[in-house]
Amino acid sequence: PETARLIAAGEVVSRPLDVVRELLDNALDAGASRIEVDVEGGGLALIRVRDNGVGIPAADVPLSPLRHATSKLESVDRVTTLGFRGEALWAAAQAGQLRLVTRPPSQLGATQLTAHGEAVEVGKVSAPAGTSVSVSDLFKHLPARLRTQLPAGAELREITALLTRYVLHWPQLHWKLTVDKETKLLHAPADHRGAVASVYGPLNANRVIGIHAVGVQGVLSRPELTRPRRDRMHFAVNGRPVLAPPELERAVIDAYAELLPAGHAPLCVLNLTLPPEDVNPNVHPAKAVVALADLGALCLRLTAAVQAALSVHPL
Ligand code: ADP
Ligand code: MG
Repeated sequence: PETARLIAAGEVVSRPLDVVRELLDNALDAGASRIEVDVEGGGLALIRVRDNGVGIPAADVPLSPLRHATSKLESVDRVTTLGFRGEALWAAAQAGQLRLVTRPPSQLGATQLTAHGEAVEVGKVSAPAGTSVSVSDLFKHLPARLRTQLPAGAELREITALLTRYVLHWPQLHWKLTVDKETKLLHAPADHRGAVASVYGPLNANRVIGIHAVGVQGVLSRPELTRPRRDRMHFAVNGRPVLAPPELERAVIDAYAELLPAGHAPLCVLNLTLPPEDVNPNVHPAKAVVALADLGALCLRLTAAVQAALSVHPL
């Protein structure tokens, strides 16, 4: 049973990047306007995410690291939050040492929970409103899992890239990332253009145009800013940064038609809003890939929206 539990936990959390994504999703689901991430030792030594969201009422804290304990799910067919399986905190406590400090704004004192495996301790502390979750010594007791990890530098690059995508898609928040106590990314609330400035610099930000269509919000680069790569095309579906199906990328590129050199792709940040029942986040354990109903119709809509945005801003 011990081994079975660790294997199950390893499917939710197989690397530091997974922990970061789950904790970010929790902070966003909590309605935070400020999210700070600290990473040490490539994420194996420490990952901490602090938010100023709704917090967890003292009475509910002991439930939070239990498997399948979620305060969110109303229906599996209609997921409106980023989290919904109630497994992330549980898995983090199996794979490492979990420490959670939380206080709803209306509650006087904060609650602290530490959990490792089955050992859970709960106590009272004082802390600002919101939630701070840290996961340390990830996979320390799972040598097989530890051996399959990327080198710290490579994992850090992916963590930074993930955070970058959250900043691009949630630009109205305060964001901060520190790596081994050094600030790597700092963003103050802005619009999508401001997020492009934080991530890609002001020069790029000055050369993007806004797209504001029904269900499609964001920014796109003018054709002269394109590159022969697709690594600056960013999509989120109902707030979740996703690895876009190639069809969506193609739908955007097609809208530029002959304005783009062959093989080039624009910089774009596109927040797609779809009816929750059309989005299935259950196809991928880390929810990085989602299944979209009626992808063909969505692509046509996207191409039309991009064309309209480009025609409002003649070149
Ligand atoms: P899920 O997100 O799928 O519900 P998690 O294991 O990630 O499951 O979290 C368990 C529960 O703990 C959540 O449903 C939520 O009630 C609470 N929780 C976790 N993180 C936070 C946070 N940052 N702010 C407020 N509540 C949180
Ligand atoms: Mg969650």
